[in-house]
Amino acid sequence: MAACNAHFYATRDPLGHDFTTAPEVSQLFGEMIGGWIGDLWQRAGQPPVTLVELGPGRGTLMADAMRLLARLPGFTPNLALVETSPTLRAVQQMTLAACHPVWHDSIETLPTDTALIVIANEFFDALPIRQYLGGGLERAVRLSPDGFAPATIPATEQNPHECSHTGEALMAQLARRISAQGGAALVIDYGQSERAKDTLQALQKGAAVSPFSSPGEADLTAHVNFASLAAASGLPSHGPVPQARFLAALGIHSRAAALARHKSTADAARIAAGLARLTSPALMGALFKAMAIAAPHWPMPAGFDS
Ligand code: SAH
Repeated sequence: MAACNAHFYATRDPLGHDFTTAPEVSQLFGEMIGGWIGDLWQRAGQPPVTLVELGPGRGTLMADAMRLLARLPGFTPNLALVETSPTLRAVQQMTLAACHPVWHDSIETLPTDTALIVIANEFFDALPIRQYLGGGLERAVRLSPDGFAPATIPATEQNPHECSHTGEALMAQLARRISAQGGAALVIDYGQSERAKDTLQALQKGAAVSPFSSPGEADLTAHVNFASLAAASGLPSHGPVPQARFLAALGIHSRAAALARHKSTADAARIAAGLARLTSPALMGALFKAMAIAAPHWPMPAGFDS
């Protein structure tokens, strides 16, 4: 899964072709995240900060967030983008040139001398998973004469479930940094808190395909287990809450109304459609969820009040 996704992202910009993400749906999304960042930084006492995005895609979320944050006096963060795809780095270079980002292959090389505010939208779902089938078996992949095919191998795990050791290890590493340096991380993705058994999906040009049909040419994703990520962090965590509730708490409805004011009927309809797609329970509002972890001495991040 890791090798397939590395090839998939390295060789194309899939956003808007193979799948679409919240920041690509509407500028409202990145603006709300910008507000979340600015509010947290202010209430934390305006420390020197590195703003980190994991897997920034086309850079749209951060561009929309930074447009809002540019109005915040004294907010001059370093911008660090953790991105492995050269193709998407080139797109981010164009979108975010004015913010002078620094790229990182992994979180290991992030600065150690500032607080870290980390944003990860639809990042963790792209990390490799393992599937335990119960009865001491794990799902594996074998190479048959016709290509990749499913197989099983022995495992010590007895209960059927799916998990991402890669995601949990990354979260633990990030949390150690946040704990030592101050800061917080916001994870938005699709998934749930319970253990799932099989949520692996391959998406190619907007359609579901077999994960084995064209390895490296389809996006492989799995639901994110928020409870496991929170546990792996070992830090105070907030949420997960449904994306609709999180965005509403951050003021997305009044921002959408302000944005639509004095606009043409067509533009106002486009803004309303974007808002509906992000917040409607039948679309992205309920399946997608937001969760945050924060350093123990940091304030509680916005958007998680019940
Ligand atoms: N956050 C963006 C893009 C989501 S797609 C948005 O919401 O639109 C997933 C992103 O994560 C892509 O930028 C992809 O290149 C990056 N990515 C996937 N696996 C990665 C890894 N192991 N390390 C760093 N970046 C990765």
